[in-house]
Amino acid sequence: MMIQTSVTEEAMSNNAAEPLPTSTRAWSLVSRPEGRPTTDDVALQVLALPDLQDGQILVENEYLSVDPYMRGRMSDKKSYMPPFDVGAPMDGPAIGRVLASRSDDFAVGDHVFHVLGWREHAVLDADTAFPVDPDAAPLPAYLGVLGIPGLTAYVGIERFAEISGGETVYVSGAAGAVGSVAGQIAKIRGAERVIGSAGSDEKVRELVEVFGFDAAFNYKTAPIADQLAELAPDGVDVVFDNVGGEAMEAGIGALRVHARFVLAGMLSQYNDEAVVGPRNLWHLSITRSRILAFMVSEEMDLRDRFLREASGWIAEGTLRHRETIREGFDGMFDAFLAMMRGENTGKMVVRV
Ligand code: NAP
Repeated sequence: MMIQTSVTEEAMSNNAAEPLPTSTRAWSLVSRPEGRPTTDDVALQVLALPDLQDGQILVENEYLSVDPYMRGRMSDKKSYMPPFDVGAPMDGPAIGRVLASRSDDFAVGDHVFHVLGWREHAVLDADTAFPVDPDAAPLPAYLGVLGIPGLTAYVGIERFAEISGGETVYVSGAAGAVGSVAGQIAKIRGAERVIGSAGSDEKVRELVEVFGFDAAFNYKTAPIADQLAELAPDGVDVVFDNVGGEAMEAGIGALRVHARFVLAGMLSQYNDEAVVGPRNLWHLSITRSRILAFMVSEEMDLRDRFLREASGWIAEGTLRHRETIREGFDGMFDAFLAMMRGENTGKMVVRV
């Protein structure tokens, strides 16, 4: 739980024109969901904001991220991140504006990326925040294509996929924040043919027409293995899997000799729904292929290079991005549920 005190007069003197908030609203978990989360699992809570200490900033959040990994943190199963505490505010990526600063690194009015999301305001150590430039890209892009999802796509392709010219790549969850970028970076890095799967005909159309995939299919209309076999009759050299389950089994089954299966996530299983496959791991031996799993948090050494390259690709039009923006802090949990249902193209973001 946050310390419940108020913002000091010292902090207030940093921005005399605007009265500073002394409390904020935050979304907290009230029960651990079984299966699909519902609005009964969360509640809005009012938190007093702690006094601003030396080296800290007070931030007004403007855009908040809802991400699939947050479903995992609502459970208390062992994972790579600690679970959210029941009764405490949740956290996650956010972009906000500095309202008060006791840090030399940030001035009032600066925009920052930080991870005290799921709330309207946050007091945080300045050294946990990253500057973002609102003139270089629209602010929501720093939660998507220029944020963790974009970096995840870059890391998966750059460090693990080892793409060489003439290869075929299959991306599952392809119309989402990570997948839409991964497919495009695969093309930029020389893949000859990139195939994506997504959950609606409209997304399939956008994959080809907006994001430049060579082919795409709707995984809800026919078995994935059949659709993949039709679009890649000779198999694939790289799978970039965001989904797990049926997509993973189909992807493994399509691997050519010496292929790479890059496992970014398994979002079809985050709601503890029935787990499907893979029943064909022997195919990895037959083809001498590798499964490569990674966590972007361990690959942050690529961040600066990624930002440089991705900004250049966006500027020259070779990397396109979409954000699905939901309005209003009160609807944030509904936005999270909508993202889990597939109501986003590109990155799902909440405008506070
Ligand atoms: P996202 O793809 O923008 O949003 C989630 C999407 O999942 C929805 O739009 C929906 O699209 C799809 N979906 C929902 N249920 C599904 C199901 N049963 N089967 C197939 N698709 C389903 O989310 P994201 O932020 O880009 O995350 C994508 C993956 O990357 C996740 O697995 C996430 O955990 C992973 N990730 C990994 C790392 C890492 O470090 N390894 C970092 C960030 C994210 P449809 O309409 O297509 O169903």
